[in-house]
Amino acid sequence: MTQPPPAPPGPAPPAASRFDAAVRAAVGQGLLGERGPVAGFIDTDGVRASVAALHHAFARAPGVLHTFAAKACSLVPVLRLLAAEGMGCEVASPGELRLAVEAGFAPASIVLDSPAKTREEIRLALALGVAVNADSLEELRRVDALRNRATASVFGLRVNPQVGAGSIGPMSTATDTAKFGVALRDPGAREAVVRAFADRPWLTRLHTHVGSQGCPLELIAAGVARTYELAEEINATLGTRQVTSLDIGGGLPVNFTDETVRPGYADYVTALAGAAPGLFSGRYGLVTEFGRSLLAKNGFIGARVEYTKDAGARRIALPHAGAQTATRTVLMPGDWPLRIGAFGPDGAPKSGPVLAQDIAGPCCFAGDVVAYGRELPELTEGDVVVLYDTGAYYFSTPWAYNSLPRPAVYGFRSAGPDGAVVFATVRDAQTMDAIAAESGLAHADALLLGG
Ligand SMILES: *Cc1c(COP(=O)(O)O)cnc(C)c1O
Repeated sequence: MTQPPPAPPGPAPPAASRFDAAVRAAVGQGLLGERGPVAGFIDTDGVRASVAALHHAFARAPGVLHTFAAKACSLVPVLRLLAAEGMGCEVASPGELRLAVEAGFAPASIVLDSPAKTREEIRLALALGVAVNADSLEELRRVDALRNRATASVFGLRVNPQVGAGSIGPMSTATDTAKFGVALRDPGAREAVVRAFADRPWLTRLHTHVGSQGCPLELIAAGVARTYELAEEINATLGTRQVTSLDIGGGLPVNFTDETVRPGYADYVTALAGAAPGLFSGRYGLVTEFGRSLLAKNGFIGARVEYTKDAGARRIALPHAGAQTATRTVLMPGDWPLRIGAFGPDGAPKSGPVLAQDIAGPCCFAGDVVAYGRELPELTEGDVVVLYDTGAYYFSTPWAYNSLPRPAVYGFRSAGPDGAVVFATVRDAQTMDAIAAESGLAHADALLLGG
């Protein structure tokens, strides 16, 4: 019996990609091949250009701190590059905070979010002087107990403007029932937030993040506008400008269907200015927390095809990029389709007649398929497939299923008069020793004792 594919065929591969030279060079230099069957790649000039576009779009806002949402590409060299380009860092766990510190971000440019901060995490944040956005009134009471006057930390409160969902439920953080922030339209919540500020002269920031991929600009802008209006209300009620900054989150969606960057940061600023004209008046300092929109289109995954086969009249290619590095796409294929390109063993784009092929990964579960029925030139052993737009939340956020190693990550740029592609190692592929160590090797006998 033939099973219907669970997802539509997905976006077509690019006719030619700005990464073609990098793919060929990666194969030529042995970074992709039998010894390195899967790796992530980051276009560092592209990252710089994306940061510049962000700064440019917000240039009319007098005081703005652009932080990078560390979870989108939690790799120290990437974070350090972003720090060098003048960004701050948004972190949401002790691990991300550690990476941000190692990357060299000044504490004043780090913002700690997360809905489940422990007392220890809050203490550390205060000792370092990083900004803390409390996720709830309950967490604010913890901060009351832990805070001392000497701390340099800026304190904010996250609110959920409850403006509704985008097209991907799990990415929508401003629904009526979302777990983040104080649900502003619930009975009594708005008054409680105003009181919380009245009781705490040191609470000077409001934070919101309406959602990530799938939220239209108007929805994000509406959530920011509700937050701006709340700040105005708090300041009017208190008779003083206590709220001095607004952290408007990230969430600019990324176009995964072709090469173009749309929407852009300038489109977002236009939507914001339309929804909340006062936002750029200079009355409030602004903080942003973009992740995906800075990195996604500046990275790709390359993977070697190990085998191909036919099953039930379907052609299946088995490259080494599956759920361990394209987790969301494999688990939610309808929401996260990726463009896939076909390259030969020499790293040159494949041409010729196309054939519908399932692109399956190396994990041992049947659903480990990154694309169903994708029309590509016929793949064979030794070919290379490229998963485009995967610079954020893909190779940097691997899944340890099947004890597959975390793939190597390389940065690259064209250098020199001949435009040769130069690579730099961002992360080595995980070794078998490291996998064994992470899997409890040091405690190998632990369960034999006392049996
Ligand atoms: C994930 C997240 C971001 C970044 O979202 P992107 O869609 O990657 O821009 C920003 N702020 C918060 C609080 C987040 O959880």
